[in-house]
This record gives sequence, C-alpha cells and structure tokens, in this order.
Amino acid sequence: MKIIRDSAEFTRLSDIAFVPTMGALHAGHRSLIKKAQELANNVVVSIYVNPLQFENERDLAAYPRTPASDAEVAREAGATHLWLPTFTELFPNGVVEVNAGEIGERFEGISRKNHFNGVVTIVNALFGVVKPRWALFGEKDLQQLFLIREMTRIRGMNTNIVACETIRDRDGLALSSRNVQLSPQNCKTALVISRALRMASAEISLVAMHQVLREQLQQEKNFVIDYAEIIDGDTFEIANERTCNKRAIVAGWVDGVRLIDSMSMASASKLVKS
Ligand code: AMP
Repeated sequence: MKIIRDSAEFTRLSDIAFVPTMGALHAGHRSLIKKAQELANNVVVSIYVNPLQFENERDLAAYPRTPASDAEVAREAGATHLWLPTFTELFPNGVVEVNAGEIGERFEGISRKNHFNGVVTIVNALFGVVKPRWALFGEKDLQQLFLIREMTRIRGMNTNIVACETIRDRDGLALSSRNVQLSPQNCKTALVISRALRMASAEISLVAMHQVLREQLQQEKNFVIDYAEIIDGDTFEIANERTCNKRAIVAGWVDGVRLIDSMSMASASKLVKS
C-alpha cells in the first residue's frame, strides 16, 4: 500500500474505487475496502476528520483517532493507496461550499444543523482531487449516502456511488467509530436500535412498522430518541403504504453518544411489488 504524500499523484492515477473515511477504521470500513477491490485496480482510502461536519469543538475533539492501526487495517483489507489530505490540499483557494439542499435539513439535519452541508462540501472536494470512477458509502448513514448520490447527479459527476450493507457486531449493533465511547453496559443499551429495526421489518403494514419501531425504542429508558421514521429510500420522503423501497432510519443518544442506524423494511416491499 502506497501512502499518498502529494495529492498531485492523483493526476497520474486512474481506474480508482474510493473509500472516504474519518478513520478509526473497523470492520465496516474494511467491508467497503474489500468491495472496492471488485470494482477497480486502484483502491484509495482517505482519512480526514472533517471539521465542517461537526457541530461543536467538543464532539470534534472527542472523535477517536487511531492513525497507526488505521494504516494497518487499510493495508490488510486491500487498499492500494492511503491518503491523509490536509485542509489546504482540499481547498487550495478557500472552502468551496456545496449545499446539501432541503433534504439535508431533515432528520439528521435537524439535530445537526449544517452537518450535511459540511459532508457534501468535503466529499465534493475529495472527488475533485481523486476523480474516482467508483466511490463506496455505507447504508448505515443512509441520508448521507442519499445526499452524496444526489450531489453527484446534480453536478453531473463521473463517479458511481456504491451502497454497501451495514456491518454489525454479533449482537446486531451497527459498527461505528463512536462505539468505543460506549461502556459495556451502554453497548447493551444500544442494542435496542437494531432490535427495534428488525422487529419493525417483520411487520407488514407501514402503520404497524412505525408503531413497533417507536414502542421498542421507547421501552429502553436509557435510549433518547432523536428520530425514528420510515422513509422512501428513493426520495427520502416519509414513506406511504405504496412505497416499495421502505427504509427505517433511527438516531438517538445513549449516555450522550449519538448513534444512528437504518434498515430495509424489505419484507413489506416484496408484498407491495407482488
Ligand atoms: P466514517 O469513517 O464514519 O465517516 O465512515 C466512512 C464510511 O464507512 C461511510 O460511508 C460510512 O457509512 C461507512 N460505514 C461506517 N460504519 C459502517 C458499518 N458498520 N457498515 C458499513 N459501512 C459503514
């Protein structure tokens, strides 16, 4: 694995599958890197803790940073290039702001004002340098995936966005760099999220799905719900009974640690289609 020291190297590199990350790499990131190998000869992983997408300094400072093990995880998973961009490399002439649009202000965007503007601004800058043919993102961060796909479509970019399934621990908790901030007891509490998502996905009607999702989440008194909704994965509008691509999205806090997750409500989708 080659460490990219100068972003000018990207002018000599093509056929790239790109995995942008904020580091503290885990098996979720590893699965994106492995999938990237199926798509292109060059697998570029970037690590950049994006200050533009954090609401406050405290959260940014608390974000885990594990540079030594990150390089090892990326190499072992099959990255051919690792890039740790600097702010100046991304914005040589000052920040080029990109707006995530109205959908960026919903759900995650209500508690985290400007979060998605920060995300798409950085992803646009990263894509501008790397010019990847493919870029891989996790479905755990479903709204992010949707908005990045929208950004590439609206801006006519030549990058294909690839959605990757959520990797969970054996109890069902979606892997996240933030999980290290959870005590063992809080990890158990956090399992309510995947449990509620799974139980909702077993329901047939949208009303029941939504009800089960909320009821299950509310049963765990140490989980503070931010939102729990069923949306149309194709438009990110609130789903209706006829929506084929129903997805449940959940966010909340366990002991001050923000967790998000999503799941396809596929069993119901099949019934709508048939
Ligand atoms: P992050 O480093 O948290 O910004 O994540 C980098 C990429 O990895 C994003 O596309 C995330 O959606 C994805 N990712 C994070 N956690 C997981 C997971 N548990 N399973 C699959 N992808 C993930």
